[in-house]
Amino acid sequence: MIVPSDAPRRAAASGEATLTRKGEARWRGGHPWIFRDDVLPAEIPNGEIVTVRGPRGDALGLAFYGAVSKIALRRVAGPREGFDEQAVRARLDAAIAYRERIAPGVAALRLVSSDADGLPGLIVDRYGEHLVLQALTAGIERLLGPILDHLVSRLSPASILARHDAGVRRLEGLVEEVRPLRGDPPESVEIDDDGITLLVDLRSGQKTGLFLDQRENRTAASRYLRGRVLDAFCYDGGFALHAARAAESVEAVDASESALARAAVNAARNGITNLTTVRANVFDHLSESDRARRRFDGIVLDPPAFAKSRKDIDAAARAYKEINLRAMRCLTRGGVLVTCSCSYNLHEDEFVEILAAAAADAGRRAVIVEKRSQARDHPVLLGLPESHYLKCLILRVD
Ligand code: SAH
Repeated sequence: MIVPSDAPRRAAASGEATLTRKGEARWRGGHPWIFRDDVLPAEIPNGEIVTVRGPRGDALGLAFYGAVSKIALRRVAGPREGFDEQAVRARLDAAIAYRERIAPGVAALRLVSSDADGLPGLIVDRYGEHLVLQALTAGIERLLGPILDHLVSRLSPASILARHDAGVRRLEGLVEEVRPLRGDPPESVEIDDDGITLLVDLRSGQKTGLFLDQRENRTAASRYLRGRVLDAFCYDGGFALHAARAAESVEAVDASESALARAAVNAARNGITNLTTVRANVFDHLSESDRARRRFDGIVLDPPAFAKSRKDIDAAARAYKEINLRAMRCLTRGGVLVTCSCSYNLHEDEFVEILAAAAADAGRRAVIVEKRSQARDHPVLLGLPESHYLKCLILRVD
């Protein structure tokens, strides 16, 4: 399937997929994903690289074919590009070189971010000397051998761990598992995150260990957070630990006991003594704080995705409004609200409307100080709106 590296650069496709007219319009419009309804039925093995044709037979490019997923095609090349082993290596090199330019010396970051780096479904995260990898499409799974070889020769990592326990693998017809791919990955590693030492649980932490997409937002937020700070949905304390350096006190709240235990360990390792952890439901905790007239000068809200699909949007909008309203009530005048949504299905303009409604109900005037997104090592691919999922707004609430 893959053309050997010394072969001329040409399409490494073995099958063909023909689009409907609607599918062709979507492909030509730049969206890299084509759904099954927009592809004519065909018997193609899961994960094969195929030539994509329009209904009149024009060759439009190359794609991974998903025989199980609702997404039947994921573009890997346009009509004049090849996608052979050499191209895979070139894309890995370009992805790594981009991170070296934007984040030199950063210990924990995303080196390869799926479609945005031209490798649909491939996630490679670096934690110091170790790599954690996710192959989230059948197409990329088939290329794992050459990908691993190249990562080893390019980066010489101490180990590579597959965090293949993400549920999306099942939707692709792939097994869910966590296993070493190279070397002997440790249970946890200690990394430096902008001056804070963090213990990262590689094998069972959320995502690949840390919420790397919030890395730059944690640093940005800590520039504003002073006085009494509340970090709500803190996980293992990312925002809280950074904020603790300049704040008077930080209360870190989460429902997960194990995440809070790691937050406390992280605080101790960094000699931070002004951070307390509270196990609670954030909705209740904010209401109780308001009733008790406890006030904060800064609040971080970083909830899990409330809108997992577009059909959840109404319930999700109510939940986002509710936590933001309750948080605004607990802020002192001129207090800072760092408020996030990682639901792709809730678009940025809708999120801003929800925040405006929350401010109106709270009787507060709020201004946007910074509008942020996911960290730059998780770039947004033009043409793939789904790749812009994280919103992080920093507000001043008068
Ligand atoms: N801010 C973190 C990431 C937060 S992820 C960081 O920067 O690393 C979302 C967190 O919300 C998870 O840790 C999860 O345990 C927690 N959570 C989900 N629902 C909750 C609720 N209702 N109350 C409290 N915590 C909740």
